Amino acid sequence: MRTPIIAANWKMQKTTGEAAAFAEGLAEHLGDSPVEVVVAPPFTALGAFASALSAAGLDGRVSIAGQNVHAEPAGAFTGEVSVPMLVDVGCRYVILGHSERRALFGESSGVVADKLRAAQSGGLRAIVCIGETLQEREDERTFEVLAAQLDESLASADSRRWPELVIAYEPVWAIGTGRTASPEEAQAAHAFVRERLSGLAGAASTEIRIQYGGSVKPENAADLLARPDIDGALVGGASLDPKSFSAIIHSGSPGDSRAAE
Ligand code: PEP
Repeated sequence: MRTPIIAANWKMQKTTGEAAAFAEGLAEHLGDSPVEVVVAPPFTALGAFASALSAAGLDGRVSIAGQNVHAEPAGAFTGEVSVPMLVDVGCRYVILGHSERRALFGESSGVVADKLRAAQSGGLRAIVCIGETLQEREDERTFEVLAAQLDESLASADSRRWPELVIAYEPVWAIGTGRTASPEEAQAAHAFVRERLSGLAGAASTEIRIQYGGSVKPENAADLLARPDIDGALVGGASLDPKSFSAIIHSGSPGDSRAAE
């Protein structure tokens, strides 16, 4: 049984004060839920958010993630942040290979593989993002692209840590566009990813959680999360407000009446 995992990716949004206010709002709306909750603030707000979670009594309940990391532990890499730095500030997770990193900062799956090796050996759990562009989908290359991204990004994954790994399937055409993959489209991609993972990880592939990401909102989350291979969501825009993020979390908890609030 895979525990659903819902993660917030704030991207380049929220100051320290706004991050602290979010933690207070989350404490008001989160309630009990069997879902694992992760929030990825910008680097500058990680410390303030960690303190605010503690003050709100949520530090054991909500994990913190970096949105990116460098593969080297230290050195002359101006503007970069390392795995030990993220661990030091309280991160449990790191997001790797987000499509914005891939498209805007030239991050290849080879770079993601190096970062994954560093993250896992430094004690961070990774959320590895993959996804096809609209052109690739229209050219019917979705599965080919997903297979290549998975194989290359996970090339140096630590085989003892497969159950900790999280994959985020995020069709690029659905990120920040308001356009969501239908539950059927998403489930088909997730089933393909699961099958590919079984070739890489063997029996442990059944433990790897696969999140869907791309314009997930309180209104569409329950339908997506009900599919057998959709084990959670990576949420951008709708994660900026604690009430809508909490509603998505409740959508991942079967029978939770707060899902549609
Ligand atoms: C994301 O940034 O990973 C994402 C899915 O964004 P949005 O929910 O805004 O589409």
